[in-house]
Amino acid sequence: MNFYLLDDPAKPGEFARFSHVGTWSEGAICKGCGELVGGELVEPLQIEWNKGTERIGSFSWCGSTCVVTNEVRRFLEQAKADCTFGRVEVMPPTEKTKRPRVPFPYTGPRLHWLIPTRRLSVNQTRSGVKLVSDCTQCGEKRYNFKRDGLVIDATTPGGTVLFVIDQFGKSGATFITEPLLAGLKAEGFTNLCPRLAGNFGGMIRGHR
Ligand SMILES: [Zn+2]
Repeated sequence: MNFYLLDDPAKPGEFARFSHVGTWSEGAICKGCGELVGGELVEPLQIEWNKGTERIGSFSWCGSTCVVTNEVRRFLEQAKADCTFGRVEVMPPTEKTKRPRVPFPYTGPRLHWLIPTRRLSVNQTRSGVKLVSDCTQCGEKRYNFKRDGLVIDATTPGGTVLFVIDQFGKSGATFITEPLLAGLKAEGFTNLCPRLAGNFGGMIRGHR
């Protein structure tokens, strides 16, 4: 079975995009590798709408961080997707965001931060995922991020429909299985662009 990267279609003229401006857990730069350790996004997810359109999609994006509407949340809950939904706070526009088209105070659809809770590992050899750094001071292992050609050894997802990949640590990239993708498409949700990322066990079907 194939799986897909749940991605931003990056069409800022069609749907509103946001920047996350908070909140983060405390982090520190590791003296060993020079990378930030800790400093992860935590609730509430504070967002500022960017310039562009005021149209809010079923999914809204800032990099791999996404917020979803009530309808998407309900659908994912019914599909028993391994995720939780975090609180979202829409912050007033600042100098940086100039004049967003989404009015503030925000009166649009209720939004939820989609937080995947399931992690699966890829087969590193078969996926071409390599260890980039292995810091002895903070213990962080980092791997190159790949968005296609990934292989997960299990022949079936075993009930999992939505997950992040262990080796991609902080990237926050969300992956979904083929049946979940079909369900999302059938619901007609907007502003998502799933890309074929890999498969469970066997051969990759379809196009890369
Ligand atoms: Zn380190």
